[in-house]
Amino acid sequence: MRLQGKRVFVTAAGQGIGRASAIALSREGAHVIATDLHDKFLSDLNVAEAFALDVLDKAALVAAVTKAQPDVLVNCSGIVHSGTIEQATDEDFDLAMNLNVRAHFHAIQAAVPGMLERGKGAIVNIASVCSSLRGLPNRFIYGTSKGATIALTKQVAADYITRGIRANCIAPGTVDTPSLQGRLHATGDYDQAMKDFVARQPMGRLGTADEIAELVVYLSSDETKYMTGQCVAIDGGMTM
Ligand code: NAD
Repeated sequence: MRLQGKRVFVTAAGQGIGRASAIALSREGAHVIATDLHDKFLSDLNVAEAFALDVLDKAALVAAVTKAQPDVLVNCSGIVHSGTIEQATDEDFDLAMNLNVRAHFHAIQAAVPGMLERGKGAIVNIASVCSSLRGLPNRFIYGTSKGATIALTKQVAADYITRGIRANCIAPGTVDTPSLQGRLHATGDYDQAMKDFVARQPMGRLGTADEIAELVVYLSSDETKYMTGQCVAIDGGMTM
């Protein structure tokens, strides 16, 4: 039970990596406060607390995090936009920056005062290999925003390094989640799209949400108390 006694707040915990993380964190003894835009995804999630929360609603997000007083904050919200800079609109850019970066800014800002009072805290942000780590075709907005997720993590880590708060992020490769399945179907040729996604994974397969969740647990736990400001790739070899 690596997280016994810790209160862990997770955003976008209804599906995919967020959901797998909430379950894995709870299994390790954490008091998990799982939140997601969609109530329906939370109804069968067996963790300490679960409620609907739109991370784009700053007031609601700040109120929920402030009330929760988490020891660990896991920022999982994110949206993939497909396309080059030629297809990018300001609306798409703003939405990605809001979900992939600004929501983390607001949640962390709300969590920090309590963490400082207690003299410890851990923040885990979900970035992507598609970021400052690696450019990928047709991911202009997504990769740009996820590069900012990594930079945000390092800035927070630098500011609180002597005051007990750690901030790290995770850069997954391609992970089989509901939104990935949606992207595969949206191409109109599911089998070919799946082949293409698998082909960019040197290991020859997609990752699973459970594999990413194990890393979330590790970075949330005191086992990594000497680790901060890092971006850990877990990507089937995409960035080796
Ligand atoms: P997903 O896209 O399948 O599910 C996302 C969840 O976010 C859903 O439950 C949805 O209801 C929730 N959500 C959407 N808008 C929200 C909002 N405004 N407020 C709160 N919740 C909201 O999940 P996923 O594919 O596991 O992605 C999770 C994170 O991992 C994202 O940040 C994503 O960019 C990142 N990531 C995913 C992959 C991948 O291949 N799946 C790879 C690298 C990084």
